[in-house]
Amino acid sequence: MNQIKKICRNIDPFSLRVRLTIGVAAVSALGLGSLAIWTSWEMQQILIDSHKHSIEQIATRLPRDVQLYSEMLPPETGLQKAINNLTSANTLLWVKNPESKMLVKSTIGNLLSDSTAAELMSLTEMPAKPQVHKVSQRYFVLYCNSLRVQGKVLGNLFVVQDITYEQTMFQAMLRSLSIASVLAILMISVAIAFYIKRSLQPLRQLSQMTEVISAEDLPEAHLYLDNAPSEVKELTQTFNMMLSRLSQSWEQERQFVSNVSHELRTPLTIVHGYLQSVLRRQNNLTEIQREALETAASEAERTIRLLQDLLDLARADSGYLHFRIEPCVLNDLVAEVVTMAKKYSDRTIIIESKNESLLVKADYNRLKQVLLNLIDNAVKYSQPDTTVIVKLYQQEESAIIQVRDKGYGIPLQHQSRIFERFYRVDEARTSSTGGCGLGLSIVKTLVEGMDGSVTVRSRLSEGSVFTITLPALGTRRQGG
Ligand code: ADP
Repeated sequence: MNQIKKICRNIDPFSLRVRLTIGVAAVSALGLGSLAIWTSWEMQQILIDSHKHSIEQIATRLPRDVQLYSEMLPPETGLQKAINNLTSANTLLWVKNPESKMLVKSTIGNLLSDSTAAELMSLTEMPAKPQVHKVSQRYFVLYCNSLRVQGKVLGNLFVVQDITYEQTMFQAMLRSLSIASVLAILMISVAIAFYIKRSLQPLRQLSQMTEVISAEDLPEAHLYLDNAPSEVKELTQTFNMMLSRLSQSWEQERQFVSNVSHELRTPLTIVHGYLQSVLRRQNNLTEIQREALETAASEAERTIRLLQDLLDLARADSGYLHFRIEPCVLNDLVAEVVTMAKKYSDRTIIIESKNESLLVKADYNRLKQVLLNLIDNAVKYSQPDTTVIVKLYQQEESAIIQVRDKGYGIPLQHQSRIFERFYRVDEARTSSTGGCGLGLSIVKTLVEGMDGSVTVRSRLSEGSVFTITLPALGTRRQGG
């Protein structure tokens, strides 16, 4: 039962497989149904025809017999005798005058009960062409025509033949035919469903192969299907051509971003340097001039950072981002980062760590950049009176760094996407913070480049926890 429920749940009513199966099943049901109906109609006709012939013989013979007997006997007795002669175990005859009054009738055969015969004879309407009728649970071919002897109408001749046995046989056969048709349709549907599933397998393979292609794999990506139908092979080729075009344009875009970032960063660094030196040396600046220069310097610095991020990402994409992995004392690194972060904001940043020095395998400067980004975010996306906590600890073979804030939090539906490039949760809310959505993608790229991972846990209005996991080298007692 559970198995059936599971299968039903897995059936997609919009899939090509289900549609084709239903279509083929419907067509075969229609075909087989029509064949069954036509066969049964044809057999019914054969059954009627076989009786029609004998009834017509009776109808043509009776006037002759009546005429013959009436030469020797009184007309009434002659008619009765002629009718009795043609009556058999399954054939009844009777003649009624035009006013529907019984003139003569067969002496009832063995097969029919009195009541059935009486019921038959009481019928006033009878078909002029032989037809099958059901009377008292039995089947009869009925026929009625006027009886003419020497051009004179004697009345209406009624002939009834009992076909109950043939009809029962016919119905049993019809039942078997229907069951066989239903079984055949079911078997055809199952066979077709399997066949269609097999035929669509290459398409599924194609979709699975395409699904796993990431931007990084594009240059080497090539789809190949063995034994696929030529239409699917054609589709595979089209996909391959599209992949190569995509790869080219991806490469061009990467190159473009890298070149632009590089070209802009150098002059901007010079501009920033000049601004800093002017600010440092000139004491005769007015307040307004100083403010304008400070704004220009901070904007230039922000843009340099953005260009550096873009350059790092472009390098990471093309595999040119190098890491100097070496053992680092995490506690010292975190202390340095927190001191730096405190220079930029007057926020309370607390380091929580056990009295040990945690050793990790990482690139010192890149890990600093990662933590600065996370602390910067924690400060940006929380109220000024809340604290930011940086927690360090070891868990099995890994060193864990958590950056916790009691800020606005990130809605659940955005949490899986915030590590994407240029993704920002709420433009309206974050526009004041001046970011551009690259910080976390840099964090992810750098941490993964150091064989680590980064995750987020966050609740709206309660805060967020960013957790970095890095390969640990163990602990060292402080001062040891
Ligand atoms: P941005 O430059 O906008 O800060 P990030 O890549 O650093 O870009 O962050 C992406 C988005 O994730 C941000 O726009 C912000 O909405 C959300 N976010 C990041 N860190 C936090 C945090 N600590 N608390 C709340 N939201 C955050």
